[in-house]
Amino acid sequence: MTHPKPALINIPSEPIGSIPRPPDLIQKLAQVDSEDPALATLYEDAVRDTIERFEATGSLVVTDGEQRKYHNFLTYCVHGLPNTSADGFKIPFSDGHTRRMLRLTGGPFRYLRYADSYLDLAMRYAHVPVKQAVISPSALSLMYPAEGIPDYPREQFIEDLLREHETEIQRCLQKGAHKVQIDFTEARLAVKIDPSGRLLDSFIDLNNLALSRFSPEERKRIGVHTCPGGDLHATHSAEVDYADLLPRLFELKAGNFYVALACEQDRRRVLKIIRKYLKPRQRIFVGVIAPIYPRIETAEEVRDRVLEASEYIPIEQLGTTDDCGFAPFSDDTSTSRDTAFAKIRARVLGTALAGNLIGGDHHDTG
Ligand SMILES: [Zn+2]
Repeated sequence: MTHPKPALINIPSEPIGSIPRPPDLIQKLAQVDSEDPALATLYEDAVRDTIERFEATGSLVVTDGEQRKYHNFLTYCVHGLPNTSADGFKIPFSDGHTRRMLRLTGGPFRYLRYADSYLDLAMRYAHVPVKQAVISPSALSLMYPAEGIPDYPREQFIEDLLREHETEIQRCLQKGAHKVQIDFTEARLAVKIDPSGRLLDSFIDLNNLALSRFSPEERKRIGVHTCPGGDLHATHSAEVDYADLLPRLFELKAGNFYVALACEQDRRRVLKIIRKYLKPRQRIFVGVIAPIYPRIETAEEVRDRVLEASEYIPIEQLGTTDDCGFAPFSDDTSTSRDTAFAKIRARVLGTALAGNLIGGDHHDTG
């Protein structure tokens, strides 16, 4: 008697975005302005190499590794804006280091570049769908100073901010981005800064104002990423309980959520919270890889994490991802490119192993 081939279940797997930049690019960025024409070849080589290596992992969705996002995932769109200063909102990390936002010193607020400009180059080299990450309106709202700006009221700033964000996503969707992921790393940080939850509420409301501008069809291609922040092997808000974040997070009008999970102390507890608050038509990509830990996960470890998640999340709403980008800030050399791609390969393989097992189980039980 021959055994019928088990029904395969394809569990989608996507990266978050950033990959460590090649050393020659990092070195050059330390010497010249990020827009210097001398960087063009280095940027192009970095993007081409990143996409080649991404595709070699078997990943069915790739990014450009954010090689051209300078200086980071937060402020790439406003870097170089003349009406800003460097002394903005401070993000404290667990190891004592800090990163700073830009501060807006006058109106009007405009983006200097939209992320679809990165997509152009990436899609020239990619043979598989390309995903694009963009920064959330709530993160950029931190640029507006608490004391206000004369002749440029906060209401006007918010209106300009929402229009710029909408334009950026619209352009990425039109160019054929597989998904547009809104980086919302400040969500968990907001609960740490304001345990009453009011700051988080205001962030959710602002981001929903933006998401409301898209059709239900478009929102299927829009996702939101949450994590405790990852920079130089440290985090900014890992101590915040997901129970204080996820119920509100899933109120966002997005079709996809990319939730850091691999680093959590008690993954099953988090999965129970997800099961309770998850809404129909939302897909949850759970983090199965920890970019801030140097150890490379095995495919079997990833497989078991996916099987664990599948006990709580309906299979048609489950996906896998990395907990965070591998280098959200362009000068971060704490992880090598080799390590990043080895971890991504484990995610892709492990997710496929789990899909085969679940598909096989499904067949056996009819
Ligand atoms: Zn992240």
